Amino acid sequence: MKTIAENLERIHEKITAAALRANRDPASIKLVAVSKTMPIERIEEAVSCGQLLFGENYIQEARDKIAALPPEIQKTVTWHFIGALQSNKARVAAAHFQVIETVDRLKLAQALNRSLEESGKQLSVLVQVNIGREPQKSGVLPENCAALLKDIATCRNLSVDGLMAIPPHADDPEETRPYFRELCRMAREYAGMGLFSRAGAPEISMGMSGDFEVAVEEGATLVRVGTAIFGSR
Ligand SMILES: *Cc1c(COP(=O)(O)O)cnc(C)c1O
Repeated sequence: MKTIAENLERIHEKITAAALRANRDPASIKLVAVSKTMPIERIEEAVSCGQLLFGENYIQEARDKIAALPPEIQKTVTWHFIGALQSNKARVAAAHFQVIETVDRLKLAQALNRSLEESGKQLSVLVQVNIGREPQKSGVLPENCAALLKDIATCRNLSVDGLMAIPPHADDPEETRPYFRELCRMAREYAGMGLFSRAGAPEISMGMSGDFEVAVEEGATLVRVGTAIFGSR
């Protein structure tokens, strides 16, 4: 089995090669190390290799792990929430994560916004799109996404910075390419309409262990990779 250091090195090489194939700046792509189910020792190992951005799917698990990490690591690491989030967990999520990638309804956005009113803090969020229109999956349907972005703009403590999607599973990453392309097209269109909180290129979170190279070729700015870094769960 390869070490985390070797895996990270190989993934960075692949991201760079994919970016260059698409005439993109490799520095415009960030690797989110998905550490769900992984013990803190493995997170610390990744941190020692310079990986400082992590994704977690479960609030309670993340909270316990963050609290168990040494303070100097807690201070340097950035956490993205990438799982399904219930509105009643919004306060805890906002307290522990710097970015919530899975906002897919106004009620959740409002709950996050309310939890930040007192502190006045800004929280970065992405809107999750159900790009494959799968009934069992979270995410706003593509045709409702622009309206949701407009509604969320009323949440003053949220910075809506881009889109995120988990396309239908396919063994061949080429089958996923059209979904990546469509998410990227939507993000550019909404950016042109001024529907994101900040000017400039929106964040586009797409691509996992099996297909992150294709996602980078199609415009991902965040790739979420677990298994290819930490091994199987
Ligand atoms: C688990 C997970 C990942 C990472 O998946 P791998 O195939 O292990 O790379 C990425 N995104 C989300 C939303 C996940 O739940």
